[in-house]
Amino acid sequence: MSISKKYVPALGADYSGKMKSRYAEKVKPSGKIYTKADRRDNRVTDNMTEESQQEINKGISFQGRCLCGSVRFEIKGELRPVINCHCGQCLHTHGHYAAYTAVEKKYMKFVDDNGLKWFRSSNEARRGFCQECGASLFFEHLGGSTISIAAGMLDFSEGLKTVEHIFFDDKPDYYEIDDDLPKHSQYHKKVLEGDPLE
Ligand SMILES: [Zn+2]
Repeated sequence: MSISKKYVPALGADYSGKMKSRYAEKVKPSGKIYTKADRRDNRVTDNMTEESQQEINKGISFQGRCLCGSVRFEIKGELRPVINCHCGQCLHTHGHYAAYTAVEKKYMKFVDDNGLKWFRSSNEARRGFCQECGASLFFEHLGGSTISIAAGMLDFSEGLKTVEHIFFDDKPDYYEIDDDLPKHSQYHKKVLEGDPLE
């Protein structure tokens, strides 16, 4: 082997190493030192004052992130049930139909938005993606009070259910949907504005 040949790990290997350290960071045996980030991310529940514990319990907490972690967010509040959108814009954004939950913007905060970039996808809306890893995370109506979040970005989504399909008339032929959920040809206004479903 030539001595000039340096070991260059494949991109995937490098990436999984990074992910490993990301997860390793979270593993903290009890009684160890917690970082500021731990507290911010609500990973610490012991050794807290009762007051701050109550603060956390007030709302349901969710955390989410893009593939590389350059966009990370947390939600303290209830998420709207998931709606699958089969419109052409979602297909071209996600590569397949989209599964969006939604939340009032005031209940969501970014832990890291270094990778976040917005694309103005129409006169009325924009879509948020990570410029590092390409993940498509968000949809929002300009001036709206809610943000739609691609459900797969959530780290834990216990209790979250898919309730219906919209823009079903636009569905391409290459896949079938055989569930019993309502299938709307277009959408009803409430859906895209993120209002709670009736
Ligand atoms: Zn990313």
